[in-house]
Amino acid sequence: MSLEFLKPITGSFAKPAAENPTVVMVNAAYQELGLDWTYINCEVDADNLKMAVLGAKAMGWAGFNCSIPHKVSVIQHLDRLGESAKLIGAVNTVVIKDGLLIGENTDGKGFVEGVKQVVSPKDKRVLIFGAGGAARAVSVELALAGVRSIRVVNRNVERGQVLVNLLNSGTDCSADLVTWDQTIDIPADIDIVINATSIGLYPNINDRLNMNPDTLLPNMVVADGIHNPAKTHLIEEAIARNCSVVDGLTMLVNQGVLGIKYWTGLDSNASLMRQSLNDVLGHIK
Ligand code: NDP
Repeated sequence: MSLEFLKPITGSFAKPAAENPTVVMVNAAYQELGLDWTYINCEVDADNLKMAVLGAKAMGWAGFNCSIPHKVSVIQHLDRLGESAKLIGAVNTVVIKDGLLIGENTDGKGFVEGVKQVVSPKDKRVLIFGAGGAARAVSVELALAGVRSIRVVNRNVERGQVLVNLLNSGTDCSADLVTWDQTIDIPADIDIVINATSIGLYPNINDRLNMNPDTLLPNMVVADGIHNPAKTHLIEEAIARNCSVVDGLTMLVNQGVLGIKYWTGLDSNASLMRQSLNDVLGHIK
């Protein structure tokens, strides 16, 4: 008996695999590139992850994305990791090439690509809210891109310190921790301000970061990892103070562009992908 697959397949292993806007975005990009490829969403339990990974390899998939809860546990099933994925300790993109499973992390890379569209990260001073998975990926990638310093502002001191230690020991950038137990003023010498917490994510769109928005200055770049909604309170406050902004939708699109490049070797159309996300997120809300 043989299994027949009509198209090269890529996909996403997630649990739960509810509505995944990435499916719409990546398939729109494939179509525009004229590729007869497809991206599918598979609900995979933690217990079945190994079989799913081996299955993708056996069926000749070009690769797949992993989301929570598989980003760390998938590593044990892979052959190799990219530099930042190794430092971050998490993988969200797997490339299957020449029989090898290679783990990459595009969470932070997509973010840094978005920042680079506005300013060069080299020698910049960064303040980041959050120390979870997204903050870890973004900070490591910014450190590898040459930022001078990263101030981590986090509620949970232990988690914040783990990130600061990782940055200080694994990269050339200097990091410190501020415990987030009061309203934060952004120091005037900060160049890039980042929200890498889940504060403001749909449906809690009226939740705000405990910071003083009047300390945002026009020379600062303000970036928010929240993609739904794209126009968070932070982004609105930054625009009102003439800061340059990078929204979470930009990061999500850039992640998609990077994933497609890993799998197909081709550059995809970012503005078309952003439009497809806008359409689907409008429906999800
Ligand atoms: P985690 O659960 O790993 O981390 C959440 C972080 O948010 C922690 O630092 C936590 O602080 C902080 N936090 C949450 N609620 C509060 C609060 N009320 N007050 C202060 N701090 C709070 O999540 P992730 O890092 O995986 O994801 C964070 C966000 O980034 C999500 O919204 C996700 O959608 C987004 N994201 C966006 C991507 C993109 O491409 N745009 C890619 C990946 C993620 P503490 O440690 O104190 O609990």
